[in-house]
Amino acid sequence: METVTITVNGREVSGKPGTTILELARESNINIPTLCYDPCLTSIGACRICIVEDERSGALSAACVTPIAAGMVINTDSPRVREHRGTIVKLMLSSHPNSCLVCDKGNRCELRRLASEMGIGEIGLYRIPQSASIREVNPFIERDLSKCIMCAKCIRADHELVVQGAIDYIHRGFAAKPATLGDAPLEASECTFCGTCVAICPTGALMEKHWPHRVTATKSVATVCPLCGCGCSVDLETRNGQIVRAKPGADNGVNHKTLCVKGSYGYDFVHSPDRLTGPLINTNGEFQPATWDEALGLVSSELQRIKLASGPDSLAFLGSSKCTNEENYLLQRFARCVMGTNNIDNGSRVYSAASILGLGAVVGFPGSTSLLDSLEKSEVILTIGANLPSSAPAVDYAVRRAVKYKGARLLLVDPQRTRLTQFADTWMRPKVGTDVALINGLANVIIGEGLLDEEFVARRTENFEAYRESIAEYTLKHVEQVTGVPREAVASAARLFASASLASIIYGNGIAQSAAGADGVMALANLAMLTGNIGSGSGILALHRDCNGQGACDMGALPDWLPGYVPVEDEKAIQRFAGCWGSDLPRGIGLSAVDMISGAREGKVKGMYIMGENPALGFPQPHMVEQALGSLEFLAVQDLFLTETARLAKVVLPASSFAEKEGTFTNFEGRVQRLRKVIAPQGNSLPDWEIILRLADAAGKAMPFSSIQQIMAEMEEMVPFYSGIGDQVSDMADVYRLEIEKNSLVTRRLYRGKFPSGFGCFAPVDYREATNGSKDGYTLTLLAGSVLYHSGTGSRTSRSPRLSRFLPEPYVEISEKDADLLKISEGDEIKVISPCGEMTASVRFTDRLPEGVVFIPNGFPAAPVNRLFEVTLDARSGAPALKTCAVKLERVKRYEPAPR
Ligand code: SF4
Repeated sequence: METVTITVNGREVSGKPGTTILELARESNINIPTLCYDPCLTSIGACRICIVEDERSGALSAACVTPIAAGMVINTDSPRVREHRGTIVKLMLSSHPNSCLVCDKGNRCELRRLASEMGIGEIGLYRIPQSASIREVNPFIERDLSKCIMCAKCIRADHELVVQGAIDYIHRGFAAKPATLGDAPLEASECTFCGTCVAICPTGALMEKHWPHRVTATKSVATVCPLCGCGCSVDLETRNGQIVRAKPGADNGVNHKTLCVKGSYGYDFVHSPDRLTGPLINTNGEFQPATWDEALGLVSSELQRIKLASGPDSLAFLGSSKCTNEENYLLQRFARCVMGTNNIDNGSRVYSAASILGLGAVVGFPGSTSLLDSLEKSEVILTIGANLPSSAPAVDYAVRRAVKYKGARLLLVDPQRTRLTQFADTWMRPKVGTDVALINGLANVIIGEGLLDEEFVARRTENFEAYRESIAEYTLKHVEQVTGVPREAVASAARLFASASLASIIYGNGIAQSAAGADGVMALANLAMLTGNIGSGSGILALHRDCNGQGACDMGALPDWLPGYVPVEDEKAIQRFAGCWGSDLPRGIGLSAVDMISGAREGKVKGMYIMGENPALGFPQPHMVEQALGSLEFLAVQDLFLTETARLAKVVLPASSFAEKEGTFTNFEGRVQRLRKVIAPQGNSLPDWEIILRLADAAGKAMPFSSIQQIMAEMEEMVPFYSGIGDQVSDMADVYRLEIEKNSLVTRRLYRGKFPSGFGCFAPVDYREATNGSKDGYTLTLLAGSVLYHSGTGSRTSRSPRLSRFLPEPYVEISEKDADLLKISEGDEIKVISPCGEMTASVRFTDRLPEGVVFIPNGFPAAPVNRLFEVTLDARSGAPALKTCAVKLERVKRYEPAPR
């Protein structure tokens, strides 16, 4: 490989052509100070702190933007360099307020640190007066541009990493400053408060607002954000056992030094006064504190009593898509070995069962077949059933970067306009619930026009003929009639998708939580195979709502699969697991999470153990779930808070949060990442894995583990595609990232060689008209979905004062035209009524929804939108449909503005 050799501070060093002096110096461990440089951003040489001298010519240049050239003789620290660098710092300080001692940036300020390192005290220059200009009322970010050094890091992070375009420079000369459009306050701008600019700002110009703890951190620990399925790396800074700040962590291939607003400001729940700090036993309707021995003894004896009296299948266990792989592995082992039942499921049943079934059936592995890195290299990206800016911000940023900087073309399928729409090459707005018809229509154009990847289809798939016949009826005319998407748009989207050498598909809950969720997933997998977009660096990305939905399933917290997706009816495999676990195993498929609730209502399930899930809020018809759980003979819940579900329990066990324990999460791509213990468990809480181990002990069936590493070692043995994790995780130095290119997990998931079962299998699926359309006066279609400022059911994010202050209450979005027809005004309090439930919320007008459609966000525990949904299960996956139903609106109270 061609290299260029230069001399730096008397040492000969070589680098690739195009490398800058700064990059080569850093590679060679030679320090050059910087303020405006960041390896994730385009270098612009704005601050000039990195000036160096070329001894041959005497030229001074900014090392961050000067490429190396053969023969250069660079001095990074000559008297001349030091003098000029010092002058630059003094000039910066001359226009900087003299408020270092009271500035909240404190010891984190890079300008202050640099001045101190250079021995600069008195600057000896006329000071340019600067007045502080803080005027934001948002709860997240405070801007004091009197401290801005014009390094443009915030602007570049906004444009290049997050691609939001909320800020840029305005004015010229001394008046120049980074600002929003029209210099509006942040809350009136496009800013989403992701906090990336705050984390990257070198001075006190951008600061976290409303700090829970205004102190300098003493420790920073790299871990993983638990608030959605993206799996962003995050550094949590602590002092005296308190998390004081969150910053984007090292680049793990997911978030590239960004976070979203939840990742930056959403961890207050860890220190919430609502946290459970000790076990509780409900005695005569009152929760009384108990010792761990008392609580676990009661749980053990009650579970054993019910097992003895009514049989093991009268018990049911619910694992968690928010708990670690190790914890889910232990819980399913406890359910199967200690209690003898396959009645084990996890919370991802309500949003990812369709993916597990659909992807498993077509491509042979129930998870994403691609990676975010690959997505960013795609020529075409099809996004369907996913409001990425709200539900998966890190993926949203990746799509925007791909479109804006790498020329990717976005095919966006979404009835509602989102922040991503402006990036779309083609925006298709199908009628709600008609996605399968649209996907089949795309495939029919591709086959009809001979645009399919014939070699891939012939060599690597089966059942193509049946598939081809099944979609023949999805003509453009038919698809247009069903979906409302113009036929020209469908045809051109199909051609574009098929023409790309690398095309990716991303889907989310809009597909997976619909009444025909598994059909939608299979239709998408068919489309990917039809165009050869599996195993070639492109593929399908199945989003998960929670941080470990994929991992909980991988670990066998499922009624029909043992760990590693081994069928519970595979006798040979059962023997292997029984040998490892030293116990006979139950036979037959157990109850899914939804069936457990029905079983409780019918009296067949008599005892339940729920780890880290809140079905009394997150499942459809919460009041019926409450009744069902309330009718159990015994319920034990381990959780962070006394949730709606925990309140129904006989025994409540306090669990530690993500920041208080070790383990691994598997994100939506299948990337296994290490969770680190950042602070000690709050009160007497324990990590979920320790609780299960103690429970097994109490039940007289101790499991042979005393550390996370030991559990991992067994997981590796029993789940072959997790092999290698233990080695990686035992490396305590870095956030663990699975070496995906080298690992068998990837060869299996990414289908470089062949499909796990030999061939991909086309699965014919037909569009079925939804039955929950308009009827009996329910003339509007409700869309429920995520909102950026809350996650899941909101149990954690509603306990962040900053997030709650910004978005305290649910709302109903409706088009002005629909509102006019109903004589409803913005701000009115209205009742949203479905055939099986109602809720109240205030009205917001929007132009992003089609007529006849209203939107209500999830994530508000006080007003769960789930109460509007009847229990309709996807016939294939058994997952409840929680996306759409028919509703009507009634005004409760007219909005009256407060008197001025
Ligand atoms: Fe990343 Fe999701 Fe956490 Fe936001 S909530 S920081 S996107 S993992």
